[in-house]
Amino acid sequence: MTSIYDQGLDRVAANHMALTPLGFLERAAAVWPDKVAVVHGAARTSYRELDRRCRRLASALSRCGIGPGDTVSVLAPNIPALLEAHYGVPMLGAVLNAINARLDAATVGFILRHSGAKVFLVDRDCAEAARGALEGLEPRPLVIDIADPLGPASGGIGEMTYEAFLASGDPDFAWSWPEDEWQAIGLNYTSGTTGNPKGVVVHHRGAFLNAIGNAITFGLGPETVYLWTLPMFHCNGWCYTWAVTAVGGTHVCLRRVDPALIFPAIAEHGVTHLCGAPIVLTMLIHAPDTVKRRFKHLVEVATGGAAPPSAVIAAMSQMGFHVTHLYGLTEVYGPSTLCAWQEDWDGFDADAQATMMARQGVNLLTMAGQDVVDPATMTPVPADGTTIGELVLRGNTVMKGYLRNRAASDEAFRGGWFHTGDLGVKHPDGYVEIKDRAKDIIISGGENISSLEVEEVLYRHPQVMEAAVVARPDAKWGESPCAFITLKPGAAPTTEAEVIAFCRERMARYKVPRTVMFGALPKTSTGKIQKFQLREQAKALGERHE
Ligand code: ADP
Repeated sequence: MTSIYDQGLDRVAANHMALTPLGFLERAAAVWPDKVAVVHGAARTSYRELDRRCRRLASALSRCGIGPGDTVSVLAPNIPALLEAHYGVPMLGAVLNAINARLDAATVGFILRHSGAKVFLVDRDCAEAARGALEGLEPRPLVIDIADPLGPASGGIGEMTYEAFLASGDPDFAWSWPEDEWQAIGLNYTSGTTGNPKGVVVHHRGAFLNAIGNAITFGLGPETVYLWTLPMFHCNGWCYTWAVTAVGGTHVCLRRVDPALIFPAIAEHGVTHLCGAPIVLTMLIHAPDTVKRRFKHLVEVATGGAAPPSAVIAAMSQMGFHVTHLYGLTEVYGPSTLCAWQEDWDGFDADAQATMMARQGVNLLTMAGQDVVDPATMTPVPADGTTIGELVLRGNTVMKGYLRNRAASDEAFRGGWFHTGDLGVKHPDGYVEIKDRAKDIIISGGENISSLEVEEVLYRHPQVMEAAVVARPDAKWGESPCAFITLKPGAAPTTEAEVIAFCRERMARYKVPRTVMFGALPKTSTGKIQKFQLREQAKALGERHE
């Protein structure tokens, strides 16, 4: 039987439109036309001008035959052109493929071929990788040289410069609102810590929702001054490319993540918010005193992308930053869970607060649900803080799927949930804590050892700046924990035996690293420690004998 609410109450053009973050820019330009939208070095761009530049880009691309469903790739650091591409490209129904600016030529080539890129915007700092990537690529995309005033003065590749390309476009270009919010807006390749990069396809609806979810979670508003320490090519800058515009905040661009640039930028522009992987926080904490500054205002910093050790959260708080902990993946538009603060934590001491904050927490308000389950049966694990299962997510901010890879998409979505591949526990308060990626867990004498748990202890060692723990083949135990450690600059030398003794006092004996190596840790361009490389190194040490 139909209800009275099904009669004469139709979905029509006036009451139903596709959700898209593109409207954020049009609105910001109408509401705050003269407000500074983008700061880049000495240059300032108003919202009116940003809107016109994005329309020019859309128009210029359309004159080159770009339209719905075409891929436009960009290889650039956090500069205005990449921000503009987040609007100009999807205004045509085309799909933005923001490529990791630090990838090698072979991987960039793989991405251009796999995505079928028709236009390729390249910053001059990335020209070498781009040139190599384009070798033998058929058909060759139209290549545009982004001659950023703060970048190299020469050495660009391309048929014309980005500014000349924009000049050929119409600043009043009338873009059309997407008919279908399910339409793809972005194509983001995973950073490859799990092997071959996979092309994650995200849609307008998810981008709109995650931008709003992030704006609310991180407390953005019109006074927000957002410093671009997080790569825009990483999950579209966790959707902050759209979220900051949604609230009419100011984007402060940054070509390079360097404390010597970050501290002065915060002071000069009155930065209120920034995001970064824990490695960025570690860089700020260990910056030389000559570079470090304290600010009169509270700076909000959201961290995620890897587990922030509680020692890092505590050190940031001591430096006067307020830390928000987010967890997510490329497949879920970046942040999808958050360690939401509870009032009773106010009464905890600083260490206990940091321990609570190091948990990945609860689903973002725009993510419909999360759980920790036995991945084989999909049965939820008890909320006991000890039973390990896989974190699964579902909702409207989950990718469409992997481009041209149905098998991987089906595998990721099995059982009606998105499988994150991350193992964790559910605490009695419902908060989730990640223990490891499935492939990073160490199995020693039949016991699971969470590498993150061992690292958490190592980070409390006074001389340790960074630590990563992986499995080393072990004659007796099958695997045993092997720690790789970078000491703080200027730290007194320490020894394997001393580190092992430190761990023995603070964890169960079977979890204590049996091997400790000192040196720099290999990282991905998004600042993640490359555990697979460390695993190789641990394997190369040979099987360990008691
Ligand atoms: P890739 O999978 O290629 O490394 P992603 O950026 O999608 O690129 O990485 C997502 C992964 O990063 C997650 O699956 C998880 O293992 C890790 N991660 C992200 N945020 C956190 C966090 N707050 N705590 C622990 N791990 C995290």
